[in-house]
Amino acid sequence: MGIRLGAIADDFTGATDLANNLVRAGMRVVQLIDVPEDGGAALAQDADAVVIALKSRTVPAAEAVDASLRALAWLRGAGAEQIYFKYCSTFDSTPAGNIGPVTDALMDALDTDFTVATPAFPDNGRTVFKGHLFVGDVLLSESGMRHHPLTPMTDSDLVSVLGAQTTRPVGLIDHTVLAAGTDAVRARIGELRSAGVAFAIADAVSNDDLVRLGEAVRDLPLVTAGSGLAIGLPANWGLRPTSAAAQLPPAGGHRAIVSGSVSVATNGQVRAFLDTGRPAFCVDPLRIASGADVTGEALAFAEAHLAEGPVLVYSTETPDAVRGVQSRLGAAEAGELVERTLAEVARGLVARGVRRLVVAGGETSGAVVQALGITGLRIGPQIDPGVPWCAAHLPDGDTLHLTLKSGNFGGPDFFSAAFALLEES
Ligand code: ADP
Repeated sequence: MGIRLGAIADDFTGATDLANNLVRAGMRVVQLIDVPEDGGAALAQDADAVVIALKSRTVPAAEAVDASLRALAWLRGAGAEQIYFKYCSTFDSTPAGNIGPVTDALMDALDTDFTVATPAFPDNGRTVFKGHLFVGDVLLSESGMRHHPLTPMTDSDLVSVLGAQTTRPVGLIDHTVLAAGTDAVRARIGELRSAGVAFAIADAVSNDDLVRLGEAVRDLPLVTAGSGLAIGLPANWGLRPTSAAAQLPPAGGHRAIVSGSVSVATNGQVRAFLDTGRPAFCVDPLRIASGADVTGEALAFAEAHLAEGPVLVYSTETPDAVRGVQSRLGAAEAGELVERTLAEVARGLVARGVRRLVVAGGETSGAVVQALGITGLRIGPQIDPGVPWCAAHLPDGDTLHLTLKSGNFGGPDFFSAAFALLEES
């Protein structure tokens, strides 16, 4: 049997966020890193949903359209009955795109004249009211997003934001309709459709709104949303939340943590790990720059301690220390040196039998996944909001349990909590 839901996400962490929500709502989910080149059908085996992670949020619109259409073709080939285009819950885009142009292209390819759009995710403080997006208690245009370097969001009215990105007419399904129930939403969709409206921004101020919206869009070939709408879709296939959806193969092998994140939360997590007195190796960017074999040293250290339990290899430093390094090496150069080193360390750790690996840092995760040759992840149980354990096939066929934590996610004892959860499941 093919998959039910096929999702196209415009960035990596957004893909994981969506996958995580789908798993919690009862779907077995596989996340693919880009469109598989060699067919990749085996990757989607036993999955109810496949989420393809692209890097299409801020590339030129034509490239985003191309990549999204390739992803669509793959997902349809895998049997997807409905397509979910996932973007950021702050609707990150510019008048040039990419939400409008990608949706237009997907609608054309799917030969459909109507879809919905909602970035709402009330659990994360993203709500849409009368078409206006709120981030916590403030309008999008008053949130930090107004200063975003690539996609500054200075208008909170999503009907007008999306209207600037497409020639198709944009309408609204407002909160009174959502409050009135699924039939009212369906009737409103019918009304908009016969008036020639192609996109409807949908209000949602609660999870109940998203559940009703999810039920009402059951027959649409395409939906577009942040990760919130995911909570309302699996029920359309009769799926209910169950821990079985998050089941991963049994975990074993050595445990390690690789941390290249310099966020506040990760600093706390590294400190908490060091306080336990467990083995840890600090990667110093200045020593890498001076030509020292830091990778070799880190791996020799790890090899001596892996049998005792988790080993941490980290470059995580306080913002002051990081600024000091950046002023000597340049921010980009320092980042690249550290990412390359940590990715090599991760590869070396796996070669030494590590099969349970925690990676901290968004960019660091990208570098590690690439170095390990990982193309797909089965999404497992959630450690902390938005951060699940995953299982990946290594190129040699072995299974690696992996969790990719972006900077500010996770509680203070995230590293221990992560390994403890794997023992339980
Ligand atoms: P986060 O998710 O916390 O932003 P990322 O991995 O995305 O973490 O980004 C952190 C960036 O900082 C990476 O490019 C990483 O290589 C770099 N970096 C990590 N440690 C240091 C350090 N000690 N000095 C300078 N740059 C560092």
